[in-house]
Amino acid sequence: MAEYKLLTKDFGTERLQTLSVYESTGGYQGLREAFKKFTPESLVNEVKTSGIRGRGGAGFPTGTKWSFLPKDVFPRYLCCNADESEPGCFKDRYLIDESPHQLIEGVLIASYAIQCNTAFIYIRGEYHDQRLLLERAVEEARSAGYIGKNIAGSGFDCEIIVHGGAGAYICGEETALIDSLEGLRGQPRLKPPFPAIKGLYGQPTVVNNVETLCNLPHIVQRGGEWFKSLGTERSTGTRVFCCSGHINRPGNYEMQLGTQIRELLEEECGGMWRDRSLKAFQPGGGSMQVLLPEHLDLPLDMDAVAKAGSSLGAGAMVFMDETTCLVDVSMRLVDFYQHESCGKCVPCREGTYFESQLMHRLERGEASTSELATLAGICANMDGRCFCPLGDTATWFVMSAYKHFGEEFEAHCGAGECPVKARSVAMVA
Ligand code: SF4
Repeated sequence: MAEYKLLTKDFGTERLQTLSVYESTGGYQGLREAFKKFTPESLVNEVKTSGIRGRGGAGFPTGTKWSFLPKDVFPRYLCCNADESEPGCFKDRYLIDESPHQLIEGVLIASYAIQCNTAFIYIRGEYHDQRLLLERAVEEARSAGYIGKNIAGSGFDCEIIVHGGAGAYICGEETALIDSLEGLRGQPRLKPPFPAIKGLYGQPTVVNNVETLCNLPHIVQRGGEWFKSLGTERSTGTRVFCCSGHINRPGNYEMQLGTQIRELLEEECGGMWRDRSLKAFQPGGGSMQVLLPEHLDLPLDMDAVAKAGSSLGAGAMVFMDETTCLVDVSMRLVDFYQHESCGKCVPCREGTYFESQLMHRLERGEASTSELATLAGICANMDGRCFCPLGDTATWFVMSAYKHFGEEFEAHCGAGECPVKARSVAMVA
């Protein structure tokens, strides 16, 4: 697999944080080649050829997204979404920590392709160290002539501004991110108009995820066809998966798409902790539906995982062993979404509150069996009825856990305690 590690290539003791080391490993060659080999239009087509889909969660084809910008409307903006807040997700932090210039080079290539002269990197408030690292890297790149006027003699100008968020999950939603960048309260906007037509400051705007942008130097240097040769027909290239939970080696692993999930778990993550058995896993972070051990044979392919009833989402794999109480996990995730609901729309603002109250009663063994129908009703009234995806996703894990582990939910009703925890404590004692 080593030859496929594009974004996380191991350079031994050399840290790629400084410009000199990054350049010595071929850094900024992709940008130079982009200027030399491509016009902005042909670069958009090359990225379309690569088939790369956004790595932030929605999985929309990147080149197609760029081509939605209206012709002849300027200025245009690029916003790099580094507001990584999905529960279980820590790959963007890793990519910035390990190689901030790789991201800056990707931002510049995308800016050239969409003809944007001012790009923003919106980084979550809690990533304070990474923000400082990026700011230092931006200054280094500016001093070397990669940022500013007439970059590398190409005639292309581009400024990059690093902007720290204030720690709100909802600002990972592209229109809330744009509101926050404009100095407004970070809340989603009504779509349409989509950001490509009317985004930051009312101008055409592209919002791309960190990992998506980090792939661009490699696509430019090796070609869209080469990138497409990795992965599956509709899930091309590699992806970095953030693996956590009850596994022996938690961490970030870059995998060629199409590889079996089982290989990621058993070979990269070292299998389940203490040889316990896998009970369930989330393939795409806290928002996504739970999958079962039988799904380990699925390929790391966006469509295949969607067909199985979940999603690769933001690339966070959370593995749970046999001692895990799915009611407890559901309750904690619902609490997270209730806390992060921006309050703009009623189904999410009220729904997450009632969902959370009920989940706490259920987890303590105080709810009655009839309240399970109430829980299902609350979720049904939220899913598809909220202003933005946060409200919908606040129901997905709970409802999938109820579907697959209904008996566990029922066993909590009137039990006076969590029966799974009681059993697990006895098992591991
Ligand atoms: Fe805000 Fe939730 Fe409504 Fe999204 S769904 S706009 S987060 S209240």
